[in-house]
Amino acid sequence: MVFSIPKHTTSLLAAVLASVFYLPAAQADGDHTPIGDAVKDLPIFDAHIHYKEPAWKPYPVESIIELMDRNGVAMGLVSSTPDEGTIMLWEYAPNRIVPELRPYHGNAGSSNWAKSPKMDAYLENRLNAYPHEGIGEFHIHRLDYNDEPLFREVIKMAKDRDIFLHVHSGTEPIRWLYSLDPDVKIIWAHAGLGTRASAVYDLMSDFPNLVADTSLREYDILGSGGGLDPTWKSIVIDFQDRLMVGSDTWVNGQWDDYDAIITSNRRWLSYLPRDVAEKIAYKNAERLFSRNISMDLIGKR
Ligand SMILES: [Zn+2]
Repeated sequence: MVFSIPKHTTSLLAAVLASVFYLPAAQADGDHTPIGDAVKDLPIFDAHIHYKEPAWKPYPVESIIELMDRNGVAMGLVSSTPDEGTIMLWEYAPNRIVPELRPYHGNAGSSNWAKSPKMDAYLENRLNAYPHEGIGEFHIHRLDYNDEPLFREVIKMAKDRDIFLHVHSGTEPIRWLYSLDPDVKIIWAHAGLGTRASAVYDLMSDFPNLVADTSLREYDILGSGGGLDPTWKSIVIDFQDRLMVGSDTWVNGQWDDYDAIITSNRRWLSYLPRDVAEKIAYKNAERLFSRNISMDLIGKR
């Protein structure tokens, strides 16, 4: 086909074609080029760290900070069984650790903590003694409506201090907690872990203040096609202001693999535009925990 059109019309046509067929999103709202390898320069906020008792000897506090340093993990949200692990790490490196209070201690574990005697007093005492910025990570394996009085107290403790609940559960307990108090601040651990992506999308849509950490979800998000899983991609893009990455060092094997875990998190972030990758890597955490997070923190404590 040969058209004879004036030069200025040609360039106009080119611009129109480019905007329609080639770069529609980039024209509309910023640069959608994936951040790619530059992801390695982003500081990471690890929103799901545990420093449990079996780790204390093989991984003393200084070795944890070294692991964070060499992976560009500038800061982390830490909860531990028992809470003393969190406090040890926070006392060693207060500028690198955001402490949160896990209920588990003594005989109180993931399946019985809500029925453990004097749990409310334990939580209140620890919250008064240390500057925890969350209660959790705790599990709700099976919703028991008889636990409502304790959960009402836990919600009140969190709200009095304007801190989060960090909840490992399926979708139903999250809906239930919001039914007890629509203003409770929740971080949904692992974005539900066993919850399928479409249900994650629905819950995040239904509760516009719900925040999630994506620990243990790296390979769900990466999918199998050499990019991001399509449903996860829509979760990540649509809820980019409410997601944080995490490692979940729930057993020492996770500390053994810490380099690989952080690398796999950077890998899925590398498929995202820079502004989205930055939010999920650390900027959402900056906002949610009122911190400044940068590579300047690396090597310091
Ligand atoms: Zn965990």
